[in-house]
Amino acid sequence: MQKVVIATSNPHKVEEIAAVLGQIGIACVPMADAGIPEPDEDGTTFEANARIKAVTYAKALGTTVLADDSGLEVDALGGAPGVHSARYAGIGATRSERDAANNARLLRELAGVPHSRRTARFVCVLCVARPDGSIVAEARGHFEGWIGEAPRGANGFGYDPLLVLTDGRTSAELTPAEKNERSHRGNALRMLAQCLAPAG
Ligand code: IMP
Repeated sequence: MQKVVIATSNPHKVEEIAAVLGQIGIACVPMADAGIPEPDEDGTTFEANARIKAVTYAKALGTTVLADDSGLEVDALGGAPGVHSARYAGIGATRSERDAANNARLLRELAGVPHSRRTARFVCVLCVARPDGSIVAEARGHFEGWIGEAPRGANGFGYDPLLVLTDGRTSAELTPAEKNERSHRGNALRMLAQCLAPAG
């Protein structure tokens, strides 16, 4: 496979995916706004939602599609926000407003919870589907850390400013290359790449 359409409206995800797959000779094409209605992401797992998106868009576009379903699991919250990460606070007209509201809600939910109990991880599930609806490959990656007391860092997106890593930096304080080397998405992509790498 030389080319794959990335089924997401999140430009940050496209950048991160294209950087890793580009290294193995796979060109990533962002999904054009072709007027395809967004499918309901009503699965209860990242796997189910990644499949829903990959299969829906592969059939509608008639091409091979890679979908990413990802989110944050916080142990002290029983794994929430999980599959509801994107709309955890339920408000915000723009992506950055939603991210800020989600981060604020997370800090409220964890008020008074000590560092040792603030363990959390990003999860990323990738799914590649063909136009006939068959699944070519799936992979899951994790990125472990703790939820900080306040946002730090200007890179990345979503909850990146709140996930504190073992070296004390947040995910939003990593360069894009450093994040991809260590992240849930980078790890899932490297697993997936083994199934997608062009022959020869
Ligand atoms: P999805 O588009 O339904 O998969 O929602 C993913 C949501 O999970 C995003 O809106 C972010 O809030 C969060 N998320 C997923 N990946 C990351 C990441 O790499 N950094 C920070 N937040 C992430």
